[in-house]
Amino acid sequence: MAFIFATSAVRAGFCAAMMAFALCGPVRAEEPVKPLAVTEWRAAGDKSKTRIVLEFDRAPTLHWFYLDNPHRLVIDLPDARLATGGDAPAPAGLVSAMRFGAMAANRTRLILTSDSPFVVENLDVRSEAENRHLLSLDLGASSERAFSAALDDRASITGSTRAEKSDRLGARAERADGRLSVVIDPGHGGIDAGATGVGGTAEKVITLEFAEALAKRLETDGRFVVHLTRKDDTFLALDERVRIGRQHEAALFISLHADSIGLKDLRGATVYTISEQASDELAATLADSENRADSAGGIIAPEAPTEVADILVDLVRRETQSFSMVFARTLAGELSERIQLIKNPVRSAGFRVLKAPDVPSVLVELGYLSNQGDEMQLKDPVWRAKAVDGIARAVSLFLFKPKDGVRG
Ligand SMILES: [Zn+2]
Repeated sequence: MAFIFATSAVRAGFCAAMMAFALCGPVRAEEPVKPLAVTEWRAAGDKSKTRIVLEFDRAPTLHWFYLDNPHRLVIDLPDARLATGGDAPAPAGLVSAMRFGAMAANRTRLILTSDSPFVVENLDVRSEAENRHLLSLDLGASSERAFSAALDDRASITGSTRAEKSDRLGARAERADGRLSVVIDPGHGGIDAGATGVGGTAEKVITLEFAEALAKRLETDGRFVVHLTRKDDTFLALDERVRIGRQHEAALFISLHADSIGLKDLRGATVYTISEQASDELAATLADSENRADSAGGIIAPEAPTEVADILVDLVRRETQSFSMVFARTLAGELSERIQLIKNPVRSAGFRVLKAPDVPSVLVELGYLSNQGDEMQLKDPVWRAKAVDGIARAVSLFLFKPKDGVRG
């Protein structure tokens, strides 16, 4: 479960509001107080993670819950007024609309609407000054299942006792049928053709064909449910790819590419993971070029949430990162028995498409279209079958280790 209560203040607020609703009998009449002023509200982020910040002139007590159809988050505040003078913030990331208004006497409601499922990953109120209190709310893309579970959980909470939730650590969410979800991401698409080979081959075609072959192979295995981020030649933004991985609670996310690089002689497959610091020049250059893919579709890189204060999210990320590394090494090992790899085939850099904090993710350069030999191989059905076999075998080894009682 994904929501994390960050402060006892929030819990207390929630409890107080719940008690005011139902549990405490008649509510004591209160003296009229000056409405709480919302001095600023803003949203930033992308389709995988969005932060909303509200500033108040004094500490708010609040109560929040989910609503479905469409996916919404409701935050009830005591009598509050907008002191910003402006309109609602523009939709950002997961939030497609923000509404704010009086709901009943002494109660104001903020409603955040999303086009896709999400969960509250962090909700925190902190005091910056006597007249400056910040409500900071992090929403993360999730599956429908996780959204429904969060909705049910919130509805059933009658006190603060259940507040300490674990998170989606090691999200390897097993479905009800015992199968694991694998998301395959064919790089590029639509107006973004990706690299073009010396012989004219488009990267976006190679990645889609290869993804389809890999999906078919994994489906045949019977233990995986495979989703492709795109099934045809359409443009897909990087954060949307990340969101799809989280939506399907992927146990693994594999982004497929066949880029061009400046070195015509360099050839062979490479497995990349995410890291803050690039492992080497080649990885840094590739990540830069991949991260620019959105601009082909006219998307300006969204403003990222400025800080990730929640240490739990960092922990998830660290664990996910180490899972990604284990898979990358397994994958390089399996591929090396079947196809040519570059020297030091496991590398890392800041690939945006790999940034889901809870989904082990790798980016595979199947080969480099800047090399004529690789370009020919990438189209060769025999070579493809070997590469598909290597990846499928690595997926199986990684997700069904012998300790799980099932051999890959
Ligand atoms: Zn690419």
